[in-house]
Amino acid sequence: MIVDSYNRVHNYLRISLTDNCNFRCFYCMPEEEYEFTPASKLMQADEIEQLAKIFVQHGVNKIRLTGGEPLVRKDAADIMLRLSKLPVKLTLTTNGVRLHEYFDVLKQANIHSLNVSLDTLQSEKFNLITRRNQFQQVYDNIQLLIRNNFHVKVNVVVMKGLNDAEINDFIEWTKHDPVHVRFIEFMPFSGNKWTSNKVFTWKEMLSVIEEKYSFLPLKNDEHDTAKGYIVPGHKGTFAVISTMSAPFCSTCNRMRLTADGKMKNCLFSDKETDLLSALRKGEEVVPLIYQSIQSKAKELGGQFTADFEHLHAEDIHNRSMITIGG
Ligand code: SAM
Ligand code: SF4
Repeated sequence: MIVDSYNRVHNYLRISLTDNCNFRCFYCMPEEEYEFTPASKLMQADEIEQLAKIFVQHGVNKIRLTGGEPLVRKDAADIMLRLSKLPVKLTLTTNGVRLHEYFDVLKQANIHSLNVSLDTLQSEKFNLITRRNQFQQVYDNIQLLIRNNFHVKVNVVVMKGLNDAEINDFIEWTKHDPVHVRFIEFMPFSGNKWTSNKVFTWKEMLSVIEEKYSFLPLKNDEHDTAKGYIVPGHKGTFAVISTMSAPFCSTCNRMRLTADGKMKNCLFSDKETDLLSALRKGEEVVPLIYQSIQSKAKELGGQFTADFEHLHAEDIHNRSMITIGG
């Protein structure tokens, strides 16, 4: 078992397949001309499989594929099918635009539940956020999955003044469709224009929802980062992810592998452990994993606290979100 110095058991691995993406969300990708990592520096499919197997031998039972956009990678289907043979719950976070092309692969890989990102229900605003004119394709793909009984969680990054006025439109969506909306507090990363006054907190979200709906809390699992709720009578649910105003670090069970094979013990850690180079040189990877987890900070990568109001994004040493894998 991979246990850190605060006795947290780590059984959940998030693997980034690429830092490339077909969208350009401003809160994720730095604005300056961004150079994607060349393919030779990325973990190859067999390397991903080898590293995943090592983690599984040490207790990992859930793997999420992410990125960048995992489905832009040419061998994404091959990777999903390889990992589906491991004794893990396999899942995916995607911007959704290519999901229709992967419909059969998802089924073959036993992926029944997945997260799709969609920050607005307005097509013009979608273009503004992602710089791609693809709202309808993403929305249609979400509906395609719902119709086919996939469990779809829709990730909405809520930013003050940009999409906070749409919160109740998303709640209305849960009335007719079994869709699970997750409102995420805006987080700071390198080059993402974060300022504390753009964070719309969990409590602010709930008070907006309360103005129109009554809702009940759902029972959460121990490691859930989201606090879940349901409006009685609605087919879907909603949840809030309060990373900034009420972090959930005390029950963290997550580790991350960047697309270039670096292990990060926390989304906000400034240190990385190069597993891919060790694997390529034939060196032992397992001791590196344990060393990394032993150095995990108690909360928020040891870089800030929930008192984020005076925080400046440039004081946090980290990669941009697109190169970490959210
Ligand atoms: N391309 C895929 C997608 O968009 O779902 C997977 C990668 S993306 C980095 C993973 C998740 O991180 C998405 O739900 C995205 O909205 C979220 N994310 C990116 N930047 C964020 C930020 N600054 N604050 C909060 N969430 C963020
Ligand atoms: Fe791409 Fe996802 Fe980042 Fe948007 S949030 S730029 S879709 S990786």
